[in-house]
Amino acid sequence: MLNIALFGPPGAGKGTQSEFLVNKYKLFYISTGDLLRKEIKNQTKLGVEAQSIIAEGGLVSDEIIVQIIEKTITDNFDSNGFLFDGFPRTYIQAYILEGLMLKLNTSLNCLVSLNVPEDVSTQRLLDRGKTSGRSDDNEIVIRNRLREYNDKTLPVLQFYKDKGIYKEIDGTKSIENVTEDINHIIKDELSKSLLNIVLFGYPGSGRGSLGKALAKEYGLEYVATGAMLDSEIKTGSEIGNRIKELYENGQLVPDEIVVQLIEKKLANSKDIKGFIFKGYPRTLVQSYILDGLLKKHGSAISKIIEIEVPTLELIKRLDARSKTESAMPYDASTARIVQRLQEHEQKTIPVIEKYNQLHGVTKIDGLGNFEEVYKRIAYEIENGFKNLR
Ligand code: AMP
Repeated sequence: MLNIALFGPPGAGKGTQSEFLVNKYKLFYISTGDLLRKEIKNQTKLGVEAQSIIAEGGLVSDEIIVQIIEKTITDNFDSNGFLFDGFPRTYIQAYILEGLMLKLNTSLNCLVSLNVPEDVSTQRLLDRGKTSGRSDDNEIVIRNRLREYNDKTLPVLQFYKDKGIYKEIDGTKSIENVTEDINHIIKDELSKSLLNIVLFGYPGSGRGSLGKALAKEYGLEYVATGAMLDSEIKTGSEIGNRIKELYENGQLVPDEIVVQLIEKKLANSKDIKGFIFKGYPRTLVQSYILDGLLKKHGSAISKIIEIEVPTLELIKRLDARSKTESAMPYDASTARIVQRLQEHEQKTIPVIEKYNQLHGVTKIDGLGNFEEVYKRIAYEIENGFKNLR
């Protein structure tokens, strides 16, 4: 999702710029001013309460704003993202927005401030007043609105400066130039958003070979924790030696070590479009760890894919592989194969179920040859990229 807040004094051009942004990036537009005017038009309880405050150029209470905005966000959560105009307007509303975004497992990407001096915005509002039909576009009310802006709204900027997502633009430039500047910021933002895919499937479902090939095609980093542990051993690093020792004693590698390796991978992966996680998370604990690790890097899981293959077919495939050169040490005996399938069922299926409840899991038919299954997953990845935009 791409969530942007447009900030600036009344008359800064937020509404004008919003039109372009909403069309270009297919965002859902939320203008608290428009929502309030609709409530007033329908003479709802909230509308009646807000009417006189708006007429005087004051700010409507945060309680009213919460009520009108929460429903709009929740009802339109399937959109590409939100564009907020005229919200947040108080420090409290900045906290409210944080809470609302968190609840929906997303966040505000950036707040774009259109900087316009008071005399310019006043003149623009007076000009607009000649045609807008808005009773608050007159000199006395405009003065109040600007006072409210300076007293209550400007302090909001500090909130976003502290968060590091504040961007500013010279709003006195021509409409086209301001549009171009905003576009720049958003493109930058989009290049930062990663497509993170978790690829599930029983051993033998083809997740390894498919994951690797898809990662290469789409510029994604392939993260297979098993292979990462092996290559860490080869580097002879301190962690590598510790892993070797654990392997030799037949012990499981603790999450603490795997976390360090994934952290390193996330931090060192530059110029990539996202990640494909294979073989991780395998347990509920690891699913929380992955959420936390991605969140720490300002990202999140974008898509969860499960390749489905009937059990008999899995056994057939793993047994066939055990007789080829690409046999894995754990393909060696039927008992070992069954044990791995059982392990997946006991530990990883609950993780998939949890993800299914939280975000939905896309099931892919894993029957057929490599190209057929590849195409099915590629289609989902391409859709995932479209949704990022
Ligand atoms: P606007 O259309 O954004 O200029 O808003 C018009 C009027 O609606 C403002 O002057 C306020 O009285 C009220 N309003 C709009 N958004 C908010 C908000 N987020 N918080 C408080 N009052 C608001």
